[in-house]
Amino acid sequence: MATILFPSPIFGPVHSRRLGVSLGINLMPADGKICTFDCIYCECGFNRNNKPQQHRPTRETVASELEKKLQTMTAEGKLPDVLTFAGNGEPTTHPDFAGIIDDTIALRNRYCPTAKVSVLSNATRIAVPEVHAALLRVDNNILKLDTVSASYIDRINRPCGTYDIENVIENLCSFNGRLIIQTIFMKGTDTTGTSVDNTGEEYVRPWLEAVRRIAPRQVMIYTIDRETPDSHLQKALPEELDDIADRIKALDIATSVSY
Ligand code: SF4
Repeated sequence: MATILFPSPIFGPVHSRRLGVSLGINLMPADGKICTFDCIYCECGFNRNNKPQQHRPTRETVASELEKKLQTMTAEGKLPDVLTFAGNGEPTTHPDFAGIIDDTIALRNRYCPTAKVSVLSNATRIAVPEVHAALLRVDNNILKLDTVSASYIDRINRPCGTYDIENVIENLCSFNGRLIIQTIFMKGTDTTGTSVDNTGEEYVRPWLEAVRRIAPRQVMIYTIDRETPDSHLQKALPEELDDIADRIKALDIATSVSY
């Protein structure tokens, strides 16, 4: 099983399926993963196998390393389309997340004003006021909602603490449309042989109802792209993703699909 851990605090640029030329900002240590979920499809591997020994980068280190990288990219004439908070876990768990967002926006304005600032988050900390406020300051506030089934979440996202899906949906609604929902669809089984297929009507219909309530400005749907820690997972079919995308568009919500 291949595990991908990203350099810290800056990695790339990489070409993202969903975001374009993306300079990554990883607020986790380089040698392990810190996340409030433990998704069975996580390309960083399972939490238990990837406990870091190193510390997270400080706010000052993130700003200075980002500035150095943007200076290099400016000199090369190759500026990013997007500065993306992603990497080895959940970025909003960094204790200085809000301040780092402010530093990043200031550096973006100085070096690459047309670039977007994106945050990929699992939405477990959006009820924290300073996290919520910081996410409202970024261009692309991209929040995970793979399903609304509590039992599916327990098996697939595997929250590390209390997670109440109804509360999460309420908190997603509180962004008043200033968010993008990201959802993975997949097939196959978990290690116990139980299906993980969330492309069926029993999953898609209630998820669509939640999307309608949340009214995000966009929904990104995608499927497995790389090797996963649980090796029995399979990609959703293109026609299944297209069918789900058509149903989102019917709600008058912009949609992107990565196959
Ligand atoms: S939320 Fe993201 S980083 Fe965390 S376990 Fe899931 S896929 Fe991995």
